[in-house]
Amino acid sequence: MILTCADSRLSPEIIFDQGIGDLFVVRNAGNLVDDLVLGSIEYAVEHLHAPLIVVLGHTKCGAVSAAVAGGEAPGHIKNIVASLSPAVDMAKKKPGDQVDNAVRIAAKLSAAALAQNEPILGELVKAGKIKVLAARYDIATGQVEFLP
Ligand SMILES: [Zn+2]
Repeated sequence: MILTCADSRLSPEIIFDQGIGDLFVVRNAGNLVDDLVLGSIEYAVEHLHAPLIVVLGHTKCGAVSAAVAGGEAPGHIKNIVASLSPAVDMAKKKPGDQVDNAVRIAAKLSAAALAQNEPILGELVKAGKIKVLAARYDIATGQVEFLP
C-alpha cells in the first residue's frame, strides 16, 4: 500500500507500473499521518494483508514548500503546514535544499509514525510481518529513491 501526496503529478499506479486492483492508496497533501490515515492503513494491513507500506514523498511538493516558506496559511491548510513543521525544523539544520531535505524528512517521519504506531502496525512491524519504507519520487525524472 502507498501513502503519498495528493499532488496531481503523482499517480502511484503509473509510477510503480501497477493496474486496477493492485495498490491500496491513501493520499493527502504532504503524505501525512493522522487518525483517519491510520485507520485506512490498518484496514489495508489487517483485512487486505498488504505486506508493505511505502510512504512516497516527492520533489517540488507544494505542501512542503509552503511549510518551508512559513507564514500564515489560511483555513485548514494551516493544519497541514503545522503537521509538516517538525520536518521543516529538522531540514533547516541540514545543508542543501531545504524543501528537498524537508520532503525526505517528512516521508521518513510519516514512515516512522506508522511503523511505531500501536497497537496494530507497530506489532506487525516488530513481528516482521510488514515493512514500512520511506521513498522520494522525482517528478522530473520519474525515479523513485528509497530513503535509508
Ligand atoms: Zn506534494
